[in-house]
Parts: sequence; C-alpha cells; structure tokens
Amino acid sequence: MPPPDPVDFLDVESLLGSEERMIRDSVRQFVRARVLPDIDKWFELGEFPREVATELGGLGLLGMHLEGYGCAGTNAVSYGLACMELEAGDSGFRSFVSVQGSLAMFPIRRYGSEEQKQAWLPRMAAGEAIGCFGLTEPDQGSDPSSMRASGRRDGEDWILNGTKMWITNGSIADVAVVWARTEDGVRGFLVPRGTPGFSTRDIPRKLSLRASVTSELVFDDCRLPADAVLPDVTGMRGPLSCLNEARFGIVWGALGAARSCYETALEYARTRRQFDRPIGGFQLTQEKLANMLVELSKGMLLALHLGRRKDDGTLRPEQVSLGKLNNVREALRIAREARTILGANGITLEYPVIRHMNNLESVLTYEGTSEIHTLILGEAVTGLRAYS
Ligand SMILES: Cc1cc2nc3c(=O)[nH]c(=O)nc-3n(C[C@H](O)[C@H](O)[C@H](O)COP(=O)(O)OP(=O)(O)OC[C@H]3O[C@@H](n4cnc5c(N)ncnc54)[C@H](O)[C@@H]3O)c2cc1C
Repeated sequence: MPPPDPVDFLDVESLLGSEERMIRDSVRQFVRARVLPDIDKWFELGEFPREVATELGGLGLLGMHLEGYGCAGTNAVSYGLACMELEAGDSGFRSFVSVQGSLAMFPIRRYGSEEQKQAWLPRMAAGEAIGCFGLTEPDQGSDPSSMRASGRRDGEDWILNGTKMWITNGSIADVAVVWARTEDGVRGFLVPRGTPGFSTRDIPRKLSLRASVTSELVFDDCRLPADAVLPDVTGMRGPLSCLNEARFGIVWGALGAARSCYETALEYARTRRQFDRPIGGFQLTQEKLANMLVELSKGMLLALHLGRRKDDGTLRPEQVSLGKLNNVREALRIAREARTILGANGITLEYPVIRHMNNLESVLTYEGTSEIHTLILGEAVTGLRAYS
C-alpha cells in the first residue's frame, strides 16, 4: 500500500463515485482559474464580481441539487463537494452559491407556484438572475420567529413593511425572498428589484466575507401583487427548511477553507527555515499539523456521512446542526493554527490563511450561531429546550 496522501489522509477519495469526482474536479479547476488569481484583490476592495454568476451558472452550480427548471439535479454529496471546492477559494463564493441555490431557489422550487418557478428558476440556474434571502432583522437574529417585518392585505395586493439586515447578495439581487409575518403566520414573498418601496443599502466596513455583498433591505409600504407570495408554505417551517439546506453546504464548505489553510501551513512548514532547519521539523509545529490533519479528516468523513444520509432521505436537521457546529468550529481552529505556523507572513493577504480565518468568523455566526447549534444538540439529547 502506498503511504497516505498528506491532505486526503484517509483516502476519502475512494468513497466518491466517478460523477462526484468529476464535479469536484471541475469546480476545483474553476476556482484555480477564476477565483484564486483575483481573490486577494476582490477581498481587499470588498467586491464580489457579479459577472462570475453566469460562469457559475454555466458550470451548473446554481441550484445544482434541485430538479428541473434548468437545475442540474445532482446528488447532495456532489453539491457538498462543490461547496467545499468553492470555499477553498473563498467563503464569499460558497456563500453566493449557497444563497442562490439553497436559500433563494430552493423555496421557490419547493413552495412556489408554477408561474413563479417558470419566471425565476431557469434564469437563476443560469446565473442571469440573482436571488437573496431576507430573514434576519436588525433586532432579530438567532430568534427569527420574533420578526417584525409584516405583510398585510390591501384588496388583492400585499403591503410589505420592515427591515432585513445582513442579507447576502442583497443589493445585487434581482429577486429577494423575504419572510414576513401576516395574519396567517409567517409567509415568503418574492420581491423583484426595483419594486417601489423596496430599497437596499450595503453594510460597509466588514472585515470578514469581504468578497461578498451583504446588505440591508428596507420595505416601506412596498406594494406587491397577490401572486408575490409563495403559496405552499406558512409558518417558520418555510425559512427553517431553507436554512437546513444551506447549512448542509456549510458542513462541506468550511472544510474547503480549512484544507486551504492546512495545505498552506504544510508547505510553509516544509520550506521556512529557522534555527538552521525547516520549522516543520520542530515537534510543536508537527503537533499543530497533526491536529489539523486529524480534524480535517474527521470532518470529511462526517460531511460525507451526512451527505449520504441526505441522499438516502434519512438526514435529520439536528444531524446537520452537529455537522455545522463541528466542521465550522474545527475549520476556524485549523485556520488559527495555520496562521501561527506562518508567523508574521500569516497576517498578510500574500497567503490565504487570514482571509479564510476572517471569513470563517462569519460562517461561525450565520445560518445559526455555534451557540444555537450547541443548544439544538442539547435539546435533542435531553429533551429540554435551553434557548427559549
Ligand atoms: C456575512 C453575513 C451574511 C449573512 N447573510 C444572511 C442572509 O443572507 N440572510 C439572512 O437572513 N441573514 C444573514 N445573516 C445573518 C445571520 O444569520 C445572523 O447574524 C445570525 O442568525 C445571528 O444573529 P445576530 O447576528 O443577530 O446575533 P444574535 O442573535 O444577537 O446573537 C448574539 C450572540 O448571542 C448568542 N445567543 C443568542 N441567543 C442565544 C440563546 N438563546 N442562548 C445562547 N446564546 C444565544 C448568539 O449565539 C451570539 O453569540 C448573515 C450574517 C453575516 C455575518
């Protein structure tokens, strides 16, 4: 038997099917060609290159795990692998794909009318139309069920009022999927860009996820036609089911960022010399690398196991919480350890590590904070709810 690969130490590769490998490789190639050459610039300038959307669409990555309407209809593991490769480039790109596919297209696919699906999904799958997902508000984050945004009937129309905060893709979106309380419970509304009474403002001065647009959405007596509402869902079940989809992508995505940090640190440790020898020869550095490798390998097996369960239809939301909690927490630890191996070089954009590290701070918080996922697991095992 050959010695283990330093990155895929447990040969997880051998557990993947040929189509899964092909998708993984094509996304990896795309990231090498289109993301890595410019990511430092985009991160520094705080820009997401909107034009890349159609390229992601051309690769079949937008809404890739959905069926029909121009979507690729891959299995969940392939979607996870794509998220991992994108996030090995930058969390901003994985966030774009997660929001587009799992938070904007998924609710239209699952809960939309035939007209809504026809109107939006093919263009969104192609990257010609961009979507966003408005759930969080300035005063409602971890507890979205207390949202203030409201939709009220005015004849056949709806009037939407409220503010959504921290919305990925907000100002570049052609359609916002917005969740608001109505007299029937929480409903989802499709709000096209340019609708009178709907405005956006980007959130400035972010030090994390800089190559991603994050915006505030404001609805001020925004009048919508009767058919703007998603007909097939009422209540928090709607937005929570979308979050569960997106969290699954994060379970994999975070490992991409972690892998990039580990590979960078490993290469650096082999070549950087101090005290007349490579720093990788010091026991303390080896301990760091070994710990990174252990967590990366465990995280991969966990992601793959959850992916196989998702494809079998047996995956529970609490199991996704376990995956998100573990893999993001460990990815952040790996990034921090990698940063120390790079010494002073670790704090510059010359290396990807601090960019990933800063990005992962957002990933730790969005789609349910690590504390909330901890409490979801606590409730699952004790039967006692500690978060409300
Ligand atoms: C870059 C970025 C992009 C985002 N994109 C989107 C998007 O596209 N759409 C969207 O709707 N939202 C988005 N979000 C918002 C994100 O989902 C929220 O930030 C997240 O849900 C946490 O809410 P909060 O920031 O208001 O923190 P809070 O809920 O105020 O929490 C603050 C702290 O208190 C802790 N806490 C809260 N409640 C409890 C409790 N019961 N027990 C223990 N600890 C608790 C939290 O864990 C956290 O540590 C984004 C956020 C970021 C940073």
